[in-house]
Amino acid sequence: MAVRDILILPDKRLRQKSETVKAIDKSVRKLVDDMFETMYAAPGIGLAAIQIGVPQRVVTMDLAKKDEPKQPQVFINPEVVWTSPETAVNEEGCLSIPEYYEEVTRPKAVRVKYLDLDGKPHEVDAADLLATCLQHEIDHINGVLFIDHISKLKRDMVMKKFKKAAKHGGPSKALAEDKEPSHHIG
Ligand SMILES: [Zn+2]
Repeated sequence: MAVRDILILPDKRLRQKSETVKAIDKSVRKLVDDMFETMYAAPGIGLAAIQIGVPQRVVTMDLAKKDEPKQPQVFINPEVVWTSPETAVNEEGCLSIPEYYEEVTRPKAVRVKYLDLDGKPHEVDAADLLATCLQHEIDHINGVLFIDHISKLKRDMVMKKFKKAAKHGGPSKALAEDKEPSHHIG
């Protein structure tokens, strides 16, 4: 296992649409191991493979609170098959857009189908944080970022800030430390 570098805005790879996983082989298992290690180290509660530069439809997640045992979850080829008409507003953050949080409106509940690491199909009815996190990560594998759901004015400001930071060698790591993991959705 290895902690991998997380791509940071405005890295163009974050806009790439990820490919469907055709076979869950050794390389996918290794990818999942690295994703968990990277996600826990960040720390974050969710991660899409493209965030470490791998354009495959793989998502890892762990919504356990600090004092709870780990609850690692893997979603291969996840797809939203139903969304509730009710919406919810939640503050989101992203490991690829560090130190930026904004309220995002999304469907309050979703049904998602996916494969587990054994290739077995599942469907999950998700609400609350799981629904938000799944939608955030499935956006990632489609090349969509949470800032696409906020106003253009705010998005332009964030883009400007991160483009400027990239020119000066990237956002300071020190800034990313000492934060509540729940803030960084993934
Ligand atoms: Zn994210």
